[in-house]
This record gives sequence, C-alpha cells and structure tokens, in this order.
Amino acid sequence: MQASAFHKLLLLLPLAFFEMTNGSGDWDYLSNGKDWGDLCATGKLQSPIALDKSKAVKKPMPKVWFGHNTLELRRPLWLKNNGHTINMDIPTTIKGWKPFIAGGRLRGRYYAVGMHIHWGSKNSPGAEHSLNKFRYDAEVHIVCYSSKYNDIVEAVEHKGGIAVVAIFLAIERKNKPDTSGLRKFIDASARIPYHNSNTTIPGVYSLNDLMGNPDLEHFYSYDGSLTTPGCHESVIWTVFSTVERVYIEAFGRLWKLLDHSHNKLINNFRTVQALNNRTVYYR
Ligand SMILES: [Zn+2]
Repeated sequence: MQASAFHKLLLLLPLAFFEMTNGSGDWDYLSNGKDWGDLCATGKLQSPIALDKSKAVKKPMPKVWFGHNTLELRRPLWLKNNGHTINMDIPTTIKGWKPFIAGGRLRGRYYAVGMHIHWGSKNSPGAEHSLNKFRYDAEVHIVCYSSKYNDIVEAVEHKGGIAVVAIFLAIERKNKPDTSGLRKFIDASARIPYHNSNTTIPGVYSLNDLMGNPDLEHFYSYDGSLTTPGCHESVIWTVFSTVERVYIEAFGRLWKLLDHSHNKLINNFRTVQALNNRTVYYR
C-alpha cells in the first residue's frame, strides 16, 4: 500500500514543478538544483545544509532506533532507475509489519518507505550534506513518514510529517572484503541502466541487511526539506556522523547509469542551502 503511495509522490513532485517552471516536463541535476523554482527557490528551511560540529548544539536525546528492521522483507524487492536516482520501495515484512524509525528528535514512529542514493562522479564527491566542511563520496537516504498520517502523500504536506535518515558513504579503494549490506542494493543497479528500468534484488533480506551499519548513537538533526522538487519543508533530518565504506567497484556501477535524456546520471546532488534561523542539534 505505502509503496504505491510513494510512487505517486515521485510522480507528483516533478509534475507540479513542471507546471510552474519551464515546461520541459522534467527536472535534472545539471545545475545541482540552482535552477529549480517554487519553494526550492524561496524556502527558508531548505536542505541539504553544511553541518558543522563546532556550530551545532549538543542536545541530550534518545538514540535513534529502528523497528521490525531485522525481519525478512516481503519479496520482490523492487529497485528502479527513476532518472534521478536508484530507489528501492521498502515493502512490509513477510508478516505485514512496516519497518520504522524512532528516537532522536522524532516523536512517535516513522514508517520507512524508500531508500535511494545521491552520488558524484569519478572525479568529484556526491554527498548532499557536508560535515565539518568536507563532502563525502555519496549519501544514502531512507525516507520515512509519520504514523500519524495515512501515507507519504498526506504526510509531506505537514511540518514534521517526513523523516529522512542519511548515511554517508566513502569510496574504499583497497580491494578488501566488502561486507556492507549496501553492496547488494548498489550492485543490482547494474541491471537498470536506463530511466524507468526496474529490477529486483535477489535473495532474502531484512531492512538491516541492506542499509549498512550506522552508529545509532551519533547523529545530527535539524528541520529541513526534501532535496528534490517541490522541496517540501516537512522533513526532520537525522544525519549519522559515521561513514560507511563501500568498495569502488560498486560506485563504478552508479557512474554508468543514464538519466531520462540518456545523459550520464552523475552528480545527482543538490548544493547546500542557507541555514537561516535554524538550529542543528547533535548527539
Ligand atoms: Zn535523497
């Protein structure tokens, strides 16, 4: 159920943007978001931002925790090249439970519905947030919506309706055993080179098996937006400060993907936005 709602959102956002801007029918990363209109241009709570430990406010808060994250997910696990990223719809577990995130600055449960990546190119990093003036090679996002709402389409219209969890990735150039669960997720992208192509991730997995292994005790949190048009300002961000190392061979698969115009789908990140009057907290 929530998977189809998420699809609907992905379809709706570019469409709304299309109506208000240049009529090209789609948006891209050629200017890394500087040419996006509407709230993306006028909003004051936009994401990503530059995170800086020396400027963040240390706040006592519970650690982040995931629920139903170790239970087997219902198959097939669909992965799609949507022209902007590779996205996996997160299904329920085989018993019908929705994996969720809680803790940190989040109130109540947020159901995890999608996982995607922002990456750079062979010569440049692709993380969206920077950390202490450094940008990592890539950034994984797990998109979740508050259990207060029926689906993500409703949740995105409300402040705090969405929670996005971010995990930084760094390229591992030494050929040593790569145990990150993200490998299964990224490796499957070799089968979806074109815009709108789909594949399934073979095997039996829980969300934990696929998302890497962030340290749930250490993170930054702030109020921000979606980093794609229409840049809705309904997101509570949780950005883990630990970094997942992934072997360069996996990154090579991402750099080969193509977007809707058959250009290379590289550097699919938005540039950092002004902090304005916001506070960034860390634990
Ligand atoms: Zn994202």
